[in-house]
Amino acid sequence: MSEVGSFRFLNGKNTISKLVFIMGSHKSAASLWVRKNKDELISLLQDLVRIPSITGKEYDVQKFILEKLKEIDLDTKFIFPDINVLKNHDEFFETTSFVNQGYDNRPNVFSVLKGKGNGSSLCLSGHVDVVSPEPLTEWTRDPWGGEIEGNLLFGRGSGDMKAGIAAMVFAVQALKETDTKLSGDIFLETTIEEEDGGVGGNLYMRITQPKPNAAIIPEPSDYTIGLASAGVMYFRVVVPGFPAHAATAHFGENAILKMVPIIEALKNLNKERQKTISYPYAEWDPSMKGRATTINIGVISAGDWPSTVPGLCEIKCRVGWPPGETYKEVRDQIENTIMDVAKKDNWLREHPPRIEWFGWRARPHEQNPDHPFVKLLEDQVIKHIGRRVAFTGGAAGLDTRFFVHHGVPAVVFGPKAERIHSSDERVDLESTIKVTEVLVEIMTNWCGLF
Ligand SMILES: [Zn+2]
Repeated sequence: MSEVGSFRFLNGKNTISKLVFIMGSHKSAASLWVRKNKDELISLLQDLVRIPSITGKEYDVQKFILEKLKEIDLDTKFIFPDINVLKNHDEFFETTSFVNQGYDNRPNVFSVLKGKGNGSSLCLSGHVDVVSPEPLTEWTRDPWGGEIEGNLLFGRGSGDMKAGIAAMVFAVQALKETDTKLSGDIFLETTIEEEDGGVGGNLYMRITQPKPNAAIIPEPSDYTIGLASAGVMYFRVVVPGFPAHAATAHFGENAILKMVPIIEALKNLNKERQKTISYPYAEWDPSMKGRATTINIGVISAGDWPSTVPGLCEIKCRVGWPPGETYKEVRDQIENTIMDVAKKDNWLREHPPRIEWFGWRARPHEQNPDHPFVKLLEDQVIKHIGRRVAFTGGAAGLDTRFFVHHGVPAVVFGPKAERIHSSDERVDLESTIKVTEVLVEIMTNWCGLF
């Protein structure tokens, strides 16, 4: 767990007046170009939202991005994940979308803006996949419409994270259009299946592509700087029962009822963990106090007929936890909790529950806030936004972990979005423009002007 506080406040009159001065005077030609051409940025975002790209079906949007990057004269290519390369990596797991769809039609896009000197390199990385908009009845807008109302653009993936993708593409375009030459390389990549674990996406890129000196993922962060991600694992518990006619239920063993104390025990374990585990970056938002870790019971299935005693019950769960615990520690705790219940029950002692770990398996990460790249970003954000910068993260799994685990300092920094993964997802357009401006300044300051 980090010793560093989660907030940095700007306070005092001097700082504020200095800010006003800086805010008016620091902008580069490329950053001014962004502001002047903001309508083009917004229509790019609209185009991206209008191409559905639910995890597993990323091809069309990747093709669109490939063409767009070629249009702005970047050296760009598709990179298809190779399962034989991936499966030897210790962070590999079979994602659900890989199991269902494979990787054949699911390219990542990789693009380079070559630096003219020996400056530091930077990777701008974003995922193009989005979660399903279901249930559609909850939407008041077309999830693939990109409708604009005032300062908001609506649609599935508008915030998570097509606004970030539009921002990074447009930021690089701004450098090109204003003939701004950098000393270091810019790598720009759009990846697949982040929502599903990022294995064929960001992990594959880390294994196969050149290592940058720093990276930014413009996931929606409302201008906060994301420094950490959660560990995530999925598990299923299968409890056997014995089927019988409901009229003679005493001949059977009801698997649902056998599952109830297990659910209860997991609920208590969750409470206990939330009481004892805290993590400032995850709890920066007051509503997240005491919720840095969670065990979620996400799916339950059992039985198929009201007159039959169910012979099998299954739950599928997700455990998420901030940096501080290993896979094994978390796994042991959950397995022991379930087996303790089984020991106290005659039927379950003879017919023990089966516990399986499947799908998502992410190791938490934490980026050192004192790294010069983080300092530079913090500076730039303050200059552009003119308010406090919060350091956040650690409650959800993120692709940033792959960079940090591969020795690349990486942060999340992106626009303000609402209702991501929910109905009427939307993104704040002004924040999308501001994030684009900050990305321009980060590129020029980190990679150096040539
Ligand atoms: Zn995302």
